[in-house]
Amino acid sequence: MKKIDMHTHILPERLPNFAEKFGYGDFIHLVHEREGFANMMKGGVFFREIAKNCWDPTVRIPEYALYHTPVQVVCTIPVMFSYWAKPADCLDLSMFLNDHLAGIVDDFPENYIALGTIPMQDTDLAIQELERIKDLGFPGIQIGSNVNQLNLGEPQFFPIFEACERLNMAVFVHPWEMMGEADMRKYWLPWLVGMPAETARAACSMIFGGVLERLPALRVCFAHAGGSLIPTMGRIEHGFNCRPDLVAADNPVPPREYLKKIWVDSATHDPQLLQYILDIVGDERICLGSDYPFPLGDLEIGRFIEKMNLPIETVERIFYKNTLNWLYGS
Ligand SMILES: [Zn+2]
Repeated sequence: MKKIDMHTHILPERLPNFAEKFGYGDFIHLVHEREGFANMMKGGVFFREIAKNCWDPTVRIPEYALYHTPVQVVCTIPVMFSYWAKPADCLDLSMFLNDHLAGIVDDFPENYIALGTIPMQDTDLAIQELERIKDLGFPGIQIGSNVNQLNLGEPQFFPIFEACERLNMAVFVHPWEMMGEADMRKYWLPWLVGMPAETARAACSMIFGGVLERLPALRVCFAHAGGSLIPTMGRIEHGFNCRPDLVAADNPVPPREYLKKIWVDSATHDPQLLQYILDIVGDERICLGSDYPFPLGDLEIGRFIEKMNLPIETVERIFYKNTLNWLYGS
């Protein structure tokens, strides 16, 4: 069966030295020391080792063929967002990354679909780059779950979401700059605990801030199956009901309503949780998404879903139909 993996990350093999170019900042750069691998450096500090499948589109295609997945939706690695940078510099960096993504799609149109990145810290520049990547043919963007710790429901981001709706651009919300990260460095806790909470934070902010209510045609997908949003919806809903003075201050619509209006990816690593999400949101809102090529990803690209004995129509929806609806509108 045809599969589209809508959550994958890619980088250019070579990055300019942005810190040198701009004269400040811990921009990511790559150090290639041994064949097939590179060290991502954040300023002078080692961040992560990546392998060739993080930058080489020709290596990725056969890796995906093992799992019968011809199409990958590619976006940058969240550490590249650089929302902390000066807006014009983040625009420059974003344009570089987006042009690289456009090149991959041009070279391999059957295999790659790109989501762009935009300088969220500057509303005007963000919309400017959004319009440019729309012209490049991208169906959407990837954004972080907060922007310099400002929540996505803040008014300054609303025109960006409004522009996404107007331009028919899908939005993928990916956790980054995780809350509490500085206080829980050990045991990979920012990734294991921070990321799911961060995604729920982003979704709740967009729900309670009225973004999704005011932009009914905006199509938003939340990474990692929505993080802790769906598993804790009972608590969120109860809070909405018992303290509307706190929770319903900007939007009187119950939060559960929005579970029928958002998309989430399938990266649960847990068939029981995936089944629960199917029960809660139905089978038209979950998209195959792996987080390839990173170790926390579902690197068998949805094989656990194939083993769940779901109805064939449901599997088809998860594997590609829902992603097409999210990206392009139905
Ligand atoms: Zn990811």
